[in-house]
Amino acid sequence: MTKLKPGEKPPQFIIFSFDGAGSHDKWEAFSKAAKPTDSRFVGFLTGIYLLETANKDAYTGPGHAKGKASIGFGGSRDEVVLEVEDLNKAYAAGHEIGTHFNGHFCSDNPPGGDDWSTADWESELGQFFTFMKDWKKINGVGADAPDLKVPTDAIKGGRTPCLEGDLKKLTPALKKFGMTYDTSKQQAPGMVWPTKVDGIWEFYMQDVYSPGFAKQGKNPMVTAMDYNFWIKFNQGKEQPETAPELRKIVRGTYDYMYEQAFNGNRAPMLVANHFNNWNGDSFNAPALSFMKETCGKKDTICTTYQDVIAWMELQDPKVLADLQGLPPVATGPSSGQG
Ligand SMILES: [Zn+2]
Repeated sequence: MTKLKPGEKPPQFIIFSFDGAGSHDKWEAFSKAAKPTDSRFVGFLTGIYLLETANKDAYTGPGHAKGKASIGFGGSRDEVVLEVEDLNKAYAAGHEIGTHFNGHFCSDNPPGGDDWSTADWESELGQFFTFMKDWKKINGVGADAPDLKVPTDAIKGGRTPCLEGDLKKLTPALKKFGMTYDTSKQQAPGMVWPTKVDGIWEFYMQDVYSPGFAKQGKNPMVTAMDYNFWIKFNQGKEQPETAPELRKIVRGTYDYMYEQAFNGNRAPMLVANHFNNWNGDSFNAPALSFMKETCGKKDTICTTYQDVIAWMELQDPKVLADLQGLPPVATGPSSGQG
């Protein structure tokens, strides 16, 4: 990691992140894809994946009844143990673990992130860390099972479910648990450098121009995240026969973002997914091919949020401020950014 000299261009960082992070096959596929280029990526763990479904009452989502969640729990004992092993393997390989909180409560099953107070976020995060620390005790798992070797203080940030939540209410909770960043919020269109908001690094979700959606005559601006691509494409309907078309649009959007940032402001690029097979694997497949084909390119580093924070904090404050002041890229042809 080096400090830029005046006038020198920063590397092009790409941060791949996967919300939920609860799929053995996906952990394997992306770990394998990352290896040849020594790339790193980020898994935002859903805390309740550490609870066997039989022990779901150990979780109470803020404003909800005990044992309830908008998504499934961890499944069987074997499935939870496998998740712990996947997390250990990923962490040992240098990948980053963060949080996607627990019950995935959003506006469709209120109260969700948009309704929660600081105390609610603290409860959600407190339970997340309890599940990490006490998963064996809660599930009654014996000493023969592996320990979770991801220390709780390795968790420095996360993404809120459905990108919900008021940063003013979330931030004090993040700070209480020693966290340093969030990557849930949106601001003006395009890709910009992260900035510190009230002491927390905000990696803005990237609302970008998509050449593929433009070609279809749709509003071409899309938040570059699996679910948002899906809603724009077909309102989130399962139509696996359309997967080849949607994969091409997603991959084309990534290529455009990369090209615009690389030849422009070099803002760190965010490839944001869940581990999933939605719409016939329309989202993880283009992320995987993009990782394989782009991470080894010149001046390009696929890494973690914490590494990019360390890099930013190493720079001369004036150099960083200049980068943060650069106009957004990937906003489309009409903006003059290409
Ligand atoms: Zn999610």
